[in-house]
Amino acid sequence: MNFSDLGLSEKVLEAVTASGYTTPTPIQAEAIPHALARRDVLGIAQTGTGKTAAFTLPMLTMLEQGRARARMPRTLILEPTRELAAQVEEAFVKYGANQRLNVALLIGGMSFGDQDAKITRGVDVLIATPGRLLDHFERGKLLLTGIEILVIDEADRMLDMGFIPDIERICRMVPFTRQTLFFSATMPPEIQRLTETFLHNPAKIEV
Ligand code: AMP
Repeated sequence: MNFSDLGLSEKVLEAVTASGYTTPTPIQAEAIPHALARRDVLGIAQTGTGKTAAFTLPMLTMLEQGRARARMPRTLILEPTRELAAQVEEAFVKYGANQRLNVALLIGGMSFGDQDAKITRGVDVLIATPGRLLDHFERGKLLLTGIEILVIDEADRMLDMGFIPDIERICRMVPFTRQTLFFSATMPPEIQRLTETFLHNPAKIEV
């Protein structure tokens, strides 16, 4: 299996080659074609399996069509911690090097002003921790009605940190017709219930 067999765009393939990867990991080989076919994905995978690229690469390919509008991000990635959010931003910068996309990070400890300015300009990829995302939403400057793809990453850590009510709220605020890519290392009952409520006929991948 090669990266070029998965349906990724030329620009994304060039960025993958530049980063030195030769072979997709199992989660990448399985998840990327389903994501590109606009299917929901339920990935049961630990950190270290290459799951970040498993959602980043198809998202970058799909984002080549269309443009961001002011205050209406096109995609949203939820991460449990600032550190993980910052790592995902780095992945979008690296693999998106050949594209002109606006990526914004909404995490605590950074000024609302800078984050507001980015949202106002239009964002292709919004990466956020749940609390900070809701803070921005409540300030009235962020619209979630344009979200095409929602990623929930490290769902079991979100559960440990008490974020499930926030996640449920956010899932109800984004369009019903969005695509959802959902990742968790384990599947405790609370997470199982969440996937049953918010995923539509997902491709289930366990690595
Ligand atoms: P992740 O599970 O997304 O945290 O990725 C774990 C590590 O594997 C990161 O340092 C990635 O840069 C690296 N990685 C991801 N995909 C590949 C790949 N296909 N080949 C080699 N390394 C990879």
